[in-house]
Amino acid sequence: MGNEALRLGEVLRRHDLHLKKGLGQNFLADPVHLDRIVAAADLAPEDIVLEIGPGVGTLTQRLAQQAGRVVAVELDAALLPVLAETLGDSPNIKVIQGDILQLDPASLTNEDPYKVVANLPYYITSAAIRHLLTADLPPELVVLTIQREVAQRIVAHPPGMSLLAVSVQFYAEPKLIARIPAGAFYPPPKVDSAIIRLRKWATPPVDVPSEDLFFEVVRAGFGQRRKQLRNSLGSGLGIGSAASDRLLAAAGVESTRRAETLTLEEWAAIARAFQDA
Ligand code: SAM
Repeated sequence: MGNEALRLGEVLRRHDLHLKKGLGQNFLADPVHLDRIVAAADLAPEDIVLEIGPGVGTLTQRLAQQAGRVVAVELDAALLPVLAETLGDSPNIKVIQGDILQLDPASLTNEDPYKVVANLPYYITSAAIRHLLTADLPPELVVLTIQREVAQRIVAHPPGMSLLAVSVQFYAEPKLIARIPAGAFYPPPKVDSAIIRLRKWATPPVDVPSEDLFFEVVRAGFGQRRKQLRNSLGSGLGIGSAASDRLLAAAGVESTRRAETLTLEEWAAIARAFQDA
């Protein structure tokens, strides 16, 4: 850790760079954790990796040693000269300056199958996950370093579900890989982090009439926290609590339950009943 952090400090000083907190610039300076992130991506020489936010290229270099090709998207133009220096002219790394949320991930990788690996800037965690999982061609595997508390929310089970957990688990199977203490970053953020892996489902995990209808129901259910479903669905779907009782009965879900306790299959049953109603 010491050496890597010193090298990082030296590179930043030489380029007269001041870290931008607003862009989530906490760089991972611990080789043990960097190697763990790379291992979680299970890379082979034919893999194409899309990295979000290469920073000064520490993770990028390791990814390029194991993958066939790495495309790295960095928003901060001030980091490009640093990346040019640290990555040299590695033939299998391409750096693109831009905002990942404004770019179609598949077009960056020529529509070939790809994996995403990122030590994410925390301010875009939910938006970036949504952007990737709902892309026309989503990544087959996503390995992210995010806030530990958010990672725990994503892998939760009933009765600890949230809109975020349902949204991620609908598209992918999440797995918590390892915790990363705040001290492994330079500068250290306020909270601990965790590595999380999302593996895209080969076939949808539940049968829904349409994604839009499924998420309309789920969003309505979570719309009023800690309310019974008969009330949250009644007002969220604009059908009132009597019709909401009938909908839940048709789906076989007790109307006094709360959104946090439902499985994906129960949400899908409600969406199917809503379409048939
Ligand atoms: N990959 C490096 C590492 O592991 O040390 C840096 C990770 S740092 C937590 C996040 C990086 O994402 C920063 O370099 C930041 O400038 C960049 N970034 C922030 N917002 C971005 C966005 N919308 N699109 C692409 N990169 C972004």
